[in-house]
Amino acid sequence: MEPNGHRQDIAAVLKGQVMTTRFDKLLGWGRKYSMFVYPFVTACCGMEYMSVSASHYDLDRFGAAFPRFSPRQSDVLWVVGTISHKLAPLLLNVYEQMTEPKWVVSFGACASCGGPYDNYATVQGIDTILPVDIYIAGCPPRPEAVLDGVLKLQDLIQKSKQPWK
Ligand code: SF4
Repeated sequence: MEPNGHRQDIAAVLKGQVMTTRFDKLLGWGRKYSMFVYPFVTACCGMEYMSVSASHYDLDRFGAAFPRFSPRQSDVLWVVGTISHKLAPLLLNVYEQMTEPKWVVSFGACASCGGPYDNYATVQGIDTILPVDIYIAGCPPRPEAVLDGVLKLQDLIQKSKQPWK
């Protein structure tokens, strides 16, 4: 009998039935397919958000479209549209009430940099008040750009260190 004969027997018995992984990877895999989204929709980009969520583009198939209208049940904040300085404290309030770990998507030019509104009333990019994880370009973004943003967010979640305690 080979010195490691016993180990080979066990491997033969378990072949195809057991999978090994790291806890961090497993948690990332679970999180990226179970995003609970808080859509903070303020302006015309909202139409694009609705179209991506509808049947043709079917955002749901990425595990990315389950909207929760309570921040306490959400872990991904989608900021969709123009944010004025008057509205900014409310956006911050929503972000602070969300569960940890949490992520932020900046949807469209207005959320990312103020868009066409280069004036005193508009926040010139929500990253001046929030930590943004993914920016989706466009005025409004094409649905394909939105889906690309979702895939990038999933990749980012999968590769992140996973806080769990
Ligand atoms: S980026 Fe364009 S489409 Fe989106 S909210 Fe601003 S002005 Fe409207």
